[in-house]
Amino acid sequence: MARIVMKFGGTSVADIERIKNVANRVKREVDSGNEVAVVVSAMSGATNQLVAWCSQIAPLHDAREYDAVVATGEQVTTGLLAIALQEIGQSARSWCGWQLPIHTDGVHGKARIMSIETDEMIARMGKGEVAVVAGFQGLGPDKRISTLGRGGSDTSAVALAAALKADRCDIYTDVDGVYTTDPRIVTKARKLDKITYEEMLELASVGAKVLQTRSVEMAMKHRVRVQVLSSFEDKPGTLVCDEDEIVEKELVSGIAYSRDEAKVTLVRVADRPGVAAAIFGPLAEAAVNVDMIVQNVSEDGKSTDLTFTVGNADLERAKKVLEEHKGALGYEKLISDPNVVKVSVIGVGMRSHAGIAQKMFQTLASEGINIQVISTSEIKISVLIEEKYTELALRALHTAYGLDAA
Ligand code: ADP
Ligand code: ASP
Ligand code: MG
Repeated sequence: MARIVMKFGGTSVADIERIKNVANRVKREVDSGNEVAVVVSAMSGATNQLVAWCSQIAPLHDAREYDAVVATGEQVTTGLLAIALQEIGQSARSWCGWQLPIHTDGVHGKARIMSIETDEMIARMGKGEVAVVAGFQGLGPDKRISTLGRGGSDTSAVALAAALKADRCDIYTDVDGVYTTDPRIVTKARKLDKITYEEMLELASVGAKVLQTRSVEMAMKHRVRVQVLSSFEDKPGTLVCDEDEIVEKELVSGIAYSRDEAKVTLVRVADRPGVAAAIFGPLAEAAVNVDMIVQNVSEDGKSTDLTFTVGNADLERAKKVLEEHKGALGYEKLISDPNVVKVSVIGVGMRSHAGIAQKMFQTLASEGINIQVISTSEIKISVLIEEKYTELALRALHTAYGLDAA
């Protein structure tokens, strides 16, 4: 007997027929002798609608009330799946985050899971009851509902698998595994049988939304065996595992993109010690994550332009903070541009091979695509380009690195 966590994303529970399909899959696992906890997302589109409603009332709203609203999507699907399971003769009950509880920190809208109380759940699972747990949500230290950031149900699932010491964490979604790049954009994308935690972490962190970044971090830390599988077809998916389990190592393992980027340029910022701290300090305090940064060398020794990227959702807050500090920062003008995309190439092979970045620059140049910002890490190169070139850039790079499926 194994203990498993099964997670179903939004498209997998998008309507009643699909919820019934999920119930059948879950029952199959129970019937083969496993103890099962299921984590569900909201029905596809539901969270977007809830987020939009908050923004329509106030673009900058109380994050605690945002959480109270957006967490409701998952409450619906837990109840519906529990009913669907009961209907096919499988005992089951739903759990909201606050009922277990799933304790999180107090950063509403982007909370981190601190611990999960599983005693009662384990006792009930031992008696054959399926636990249907709401993904994406928890309970903050202020005793209010918290949410984990978009795509957070993956993290709920992995955290639960770690807390339950589960043998497996199976993430069922609308693609049948992790591909070399988004298969919805590049039809020649190739499915990977296995991917290292490290590469998956990089891919997720630069936008491959198939797994939320924090879920991979958590899986890596607690050594949870995560599989990404199709909820519609019965076929093997992709296993996320340690490097030593992978025999064939590629130079470049994947390409990802993130449209969730906005570029901010501060024109003519004073070029003196302490300026970067003065700019990024208040942004960090306002929980705005800054990603790529470039600072030009000043020509006159007095002022320079500073460009950086933030998440689209944080742009308004970032602008407000920078405008509030305009006096102290003394910049001339703030320009922002949400029509950008970050494209990243990932591969552990970069540690030992030169020329991978050069190939990226050359490929984009030959397509006439201008690079606005570049950033690199040990196993990743990212560039910021105009959003309209997303598809073209992904396809050209996928071919250039020899990743196309035969
Ligand atoms: P869910 O609702 O099940 O959580 P998501 O939409 O969050 O599903 O994630 C699955 C989507 O991730 C796929 O439909 C696909 O478009 C996208 N995706 C992006 N990069 C990749 C990749 N490298 N491999 C597989 N899917 C990817
Ligand atoms: N429903 C949430 C979202 O759409 C969480 C998730 O699906 O993982 O972001
Ligand atoms: Mg997701």
